[in-house]
Amino acid sequence: ARREGFSSIPNVKWEDVGGLDLLRHEFDRYIVKRIKYPELYEGIGMNLESGFLLYGPPGCGKTLIAKAVANEAGANFIHIKGPELLNKYVGESELAVRTLFSRARTCAPCVLFFDEVDALTTERGKEGGWVIERLLNQLLIELDGAENRRGVFVIGATNRPEVMDRALLRPGRFGKLLYVPLPSPDDRVLILKALVRNKHIDSSVDLSAIGRMESCENLSGADLAELMNEAVMAALDEKLSSTETTSLIIKTSHFELALSKASPSVS
Ligand code: ATP
Repeated sequence: ARREGFSSIPNVKWEDVGGLDLLRHEFDRYIVKRIKYPELYEGIGMNLESGFLLYGPPGCGKTLIAKAVANEAGANFIHIKGPELLNKYVGESELAVRTLFSRARTCAPCVLFFDEVDALTTERGKEGGWVIERLLNQLLIELDGAENRRGVFVIGATNRPEVMDRALLRPGRFGKLLYVPLPSPDDRVLILKALVRNKHIDSSVDLSAIGRMESCENLSGADLAELMNEAVMAALDEKLSSTETTSLIIKTSHFELALSKASPSVS
């Protein structure tokens, strides 16, 4: 459902996310339940964090889980890319940040997702660094406006946590750090199962075995999504070259073909 033209509730469900149970649990108590049952959280006598940083290798579900959190909470989702925020508004970046947060407040409850958030911090001190410096300062002001931020949850994502400006990681800002790892063999099975949710898979296909195969070693979630696409394409090729008019069903042979092409994108 689109709302107000700039934010919407994402259509990613928990079932679309494979693995990452620990993160799910954390987000459940810090965001989802807090939005759903505010009365439960009133008067617990402590400041609960509402800023998070997801870090880890690319393609392992940072964006996906952030969207699922918003969906589960029935909250709006605003997706902003660090580099975009910088480039689009050179010269008026502070205004851009202010506008962003004011939008977020207007459509609260809301998850404000900062992808590649490290872009906002790496070049400080370098030439052109003042643009980032000012943007960053404005960002800190907005993040610290706790009173104003009720119902606005901030999630940042980065592949390079080590270059993040320390100031951004303090409590109340992107205060809670959550690692999103490359999937384990068992996680890969869960991811494959999530990825086939809306597809026709032959009943003889053994996803538990496929996910644990050596040729799947070090594949990220995004690599597994690519593997799935390849399997679908293999099934399609076969169908196009046959005269049968059966529906598209993905078989083990299609996965085998896809597996022969798979390679990890993260070293
Ligand atoms: P980046 O750092 O490159 O932004 P990311 O960690 O945000 O990566 P996503 O954009 O969430 O990665 O993942 C890319 C795609 O890979 C997803 O749209 C999904 O198809 C697949 N994918 C990744 N992780 C998972 C997962 N845990 N479960 C199911 N699918 C996944």
